Amino acid sequence: MTRTDQDHLLSVENLRTTFDTDAGTLVAVDDVSFTVDEGETVCIVGESGSGKTVATESITRIVDEPPGRVEGTVRFRGQDLLEMTESELRDVRGNDIAHIFQNPQEAMNHCYTVGWQIVEAITVHEDVPREEAKARAIDLLDRVGIANASARFDDYPHEFSGGQKQRVMIAMALVGNPDLLIADEPTTALDVTVQAQILDLLAELQEEYGLGILFVTHDLGVVAEIADRVVVMYAGKVMERGNVMDIFDQPAHPYTQALLRCLPGKGNDAGGIPGSLPDPTDPPEGCRFASRCEHAVEACRTGTQPEDAEVGPDHYASCVYYHRGYDSSVVRDESLENDASSGGHGGELADD
Ligand code: SF4
Repeated sequence: MTRTDQDHLLSVENLRTTFDTDAGTLVAVDDVSFTVDEGETVCIVGESGSGKTVATESITRIVDEPPGRVEGTVRFRGQDLLEMTESELRDVRGNDIAHIFQNPQEAMNHCYTVGWQIVEAITVHEDVPREEAKARAIDLLDRVGIANASARFDDYPHEFSGGQKQRVMIAMALVGNPDLLIADEPTTALDVTVQAQILDLLAELQEEYGLGILFVTHDLGVVAEIADRVVVMYAGKVMERGNVMDIFDQPAHPYTQALLRCLPGKGNDAGGIPGSLPDPTDPPEGCRFASRCEHAVEACRTGTQPEDAEVGPDHYASCVYYHRGYDSSVVRDESLENDASSGGHGGELADD
């Protein structure tokens, strides 16, 4: 049975986000489409500057408009968020869709206790007595693994470690019982052990609440660990998307392959893909990856980004070699295929 957009928890279609700058219009996200279902984790992966953060911030329109401008369709439970008024959107944010960010330090107010801040978040969303909100805040702190939650309620943010602060941010994100959690590099600032604990916590919460999770990361090790499906972005465009096993075992797009080769022991231990991303205020014609792609031919440098081609079940790549008249075996990399995802951590892209 084919799913319709109404069936998906989140359906993003032809999302385009631009910013007016002194240097001209910066196209951060260009014609991006993907879906997230209930209980599913979708990872958006790409180098710094690929547009992955702006794409997720465009979903709930937390980008500054102006200078930003968000176009396309973003359906959440069938309703187009881009058609909503600001007050309707405010309802969605924090209730139905919650964000957690890379740096909890910046997201917290250091003048107030952690407990006070969670109670505030609860009472903003619901008309409940403060005592009841306090009990819920303690319960949430306990739920996200803060030991002695009732004693820690009156502690200030600086009294929490980095991992504990991220747990507190997750507790705050859960205040409105969201259906979708958008997590932007939430473990990047943490050491490997704490990172693993936070990923475990998210997996537990996902199972308990059936959360859909949209997870932004540049760390392919994290992707291998948590993703059900993967969206690979480059210079504002989706280069490849598919389920996690296909992306790791049958990477179809030269950019995905280049990312995978940066993993330890995969052939590019120097780290980083040679070359740099194109200027987002003056994107090139044709495929955005052409200037760094060893397989680029003339057709890659004219027209627009190649249409998505289906390279397997629910697996798509945007590359001319999957279109009629080309031999797709040229862009397959057998050294990467079928050797299973490397798993574990340490798969960070070098330039992020
Ligand atoms: S379209 Fe051309 S430049 Fe782009 S990934 Fe494919 S071969 Fe490389």
